[in-house]
Amino acid sequence: MPRALVTGITGQDGQYLAELLHQKGYEVFGLVKGQNNPRTVLLQEEFPFVEVVGGDLADLSSLVAALESTQPDEVYNLGAISFVALSFRQPELTANVTGLGVLRMLEAIRMVGGADNNPIRFYQASSSEMFGKVRMTPQNEETPFYPRSPYGVAKVFGHDITVNYRDSYGLFACSGILFNHEGPRRGLEFVTRKITNAVARIKLGLQQELALGSLEPQRDWGFAGDYVQAMWLMLQHDEPQDFVVATGQTHSVREFVELAFRAAGIDDWARYVRQDERFMRPAEVDLLVGDAGKARRLLGWAPTMAFPELVETMVSHDIELEQRKERNRRR
Ligand code: NAP
Repeated sequence: MPRALVTGITGQDGQYLAELLHQKGYEVFGLVKGQNNPRTVLLQEEFPFVEVVGGDLADLSSLVAALESTQPDEVYNLGAISFVALSFRQPELTANVTGLGVLRMLEAIRMVGGADNNPIRFYQASSSEMFGKVRMTPQNEETPFYPRSPYGVAKVFGHDITVNYRDSYGLFACSGILFNHEGPRRGLEFVTRKITNAVARIKLGLQQELALGSLEPQRDWGFAGDYVQAMWLMLQHDEPQDFVVATGQTHSVREFVELAFRAAGIDDWARYVRQDERFMRPAEVDLLVGDAGKARRLLGWAPTMAFPELVETMVSHDIELEQRKERNRRR
């Protein structure tokens, strides 16, 4: 039975990946931080097959201990301060966890190593935010980075150190440069889920308006369930390499909002949406669109869910969720 250690298991991707690995017959270990992390209970209820291991990306000794106790074949490093807006408010924490955390995990892998004939394979969750003020469109594995947030800068460090450890020490280390991916499990702080949840609440009369920053940024949005498949495929490939994972289509936040309201049966969406300075970023990424040709050719990966279906799935999930919460509240 192969064994995988997943950091960031309580996050969106961690949950989809845990499910995928379990279906594939893996023993799944999830690194969870904190002494009484409330998300552990939710994790254990929903994914009882996950074995929780304590540890923090800010603490090297805890990562060494986690590797020693779990003896994984594969490590998926999804843990991060991943919310761009928070990275502007807490840049040092972001650099420490999202950037240096990768180095700590690589060092821990170098120390613990895995069996001689079965070295640990490492996946790093890199991000299209590294392209920032884009130098080429669409962006691929050769596109230079120009990050526009402390999050993007920290991810560039994580990416480069992954490549460096592969080159320097021969580690089987891959970096997946994933473009935005969403789904019903996306955290409520992220703009897509903030929109679909607000639309659901407006539809049900529980909320009056939706306050957003700029509606103009364009993103390449895919479904998280498809993207964790690409992570796994990278670690099954013969050679460790970096891959862009994207749909190749781009849509503005405005289009996302419009489609989300329409999915809830609301056509006059503009009357509910208010622009709010507080959600504007000091430096914005205007346009991201990825070229996942290499992942398609070498891994046989392709996205399965189109943009309209993604938005509709998230909206109908949130309508059901809010209805359920209302029923429970009234009981
Ligand atoms: P997410 O939902 O925000 O999850 C982040 C995870 O990191 C959570 O499980 C969190 O744990 C954990 N974490 C935070 N600080 C930690 C620390 N000090 N030590 C260990 N774990 C820590 O993120 P996601 O959307 O699943 O994304 C997964 C990864 O892919 C992230 O690295 C993200 O930056 C990257 N990525 C995401 C996208 C996307 O569109 N979703 C695109 C490109 C790259 P708690 O629950 O305990 O806080």
